[in-house]
Amino acid sequence: MLEIQGLTKQYPGESEPALAGIDLTVRPGELVAVLGRSGAGKSTLIRCINRLVEPDAGKVRWNGRELTGVPPGLLRERRREIGMIFQHFHLLPRLTVKMNVLSGRFAAMPLWRPLFGAFAPEHRKAAGEALQRVGLAHLASRRVEELSGGQRQRVAIARVLMQQPELLLGDEPVSSLDPVTADRILGFIAELHREQGLTVVLNLHDVALARRYAPRIIGLSGGRIVYDGPPGELNDEA
Ligand code: ADP
Ligand code: ADP
Repeated sequence: MLEIQGLTKQYPGESEPALAGIDLTVRPGELVAVLGRSGAGKSTLIRCINRLVEPDAGKVRWNGRELTGVPPGLLRERRREIGMIFQHFHLLPRLTVKMNVLSGRFAAMPLWRPLFGAFAPEHRKAAGEALQRVGLAHLASRRVEELSGGQRQRVAIARVLMQQPELLLGDEPVSSLDPVTADRILGFIAELHREQGLTVVLNLHDVALARRYAPRIIGLSGGRIVYDGPPGELNDEA
């Protein structure tokens, strides 16, 4: 379970807070889409959950363990259950698909573990399976820079699967993709959610996509939650 209480963030030099006290609980196995206009605080909310952005105040707990207020070593350990995907993928474009997927081991590994650990046979096997899962096994030896956007996001998802996360966060994971590819990637994330019981929280700016895939929608405006419910009752002016 993800528990957020009083989460607040104001960037230096800004007159308005990006998050003005967010209270939110996400139950295990939910798929939640965060919607709102540009500047509403969606990205800040997603990033404050795993402290890629440091909140000013408030608490975040995942499975009863606090992420806020813990020192870096402990944070790193607790983040292992939390995978993240991004709008621009954050892959290493000059490296092969397989190497990028293998690098997902690092997220699940203590810092002191030697680099070789990432290339152990069992990790290679896991990387092969993750690539199979996202339908890219045939591209394992290609460099990421040769792939399309949709393929890149699949590589990023395979990398995150190496971490065996229980919570998947997505910061506009389909916003740089064309509508058809965006729909496919979101459909694929929804499938992982259904089949593996993965809890998913992602922000989207496409209301139609959110309606199609997210049973629960959080509407943000001015850093506050202005809607929380099923897509059916959502008005398109969100
Ligand atoms: P959204 O994802 O909904 O577009 P953001 O969370 O990116 O919203 O931004 C919320 C508010 O915080 C906006 O007013 C934005 O300009 C501001 N903001 C976001 N990131 C920064 C930053 N790094 N520095 C200063 N202000 C920021
Ligand atoms: P995007 O546009 O793809 O959503 P941005 O370029 O706005 O992402 O932001 C990149 C931020 O994400 C950087 O501040 C960086 O610290 C962080 N970041 C990049 N790659 C990773 C990663 N693999 N894991 C965690 N954080 C990352």
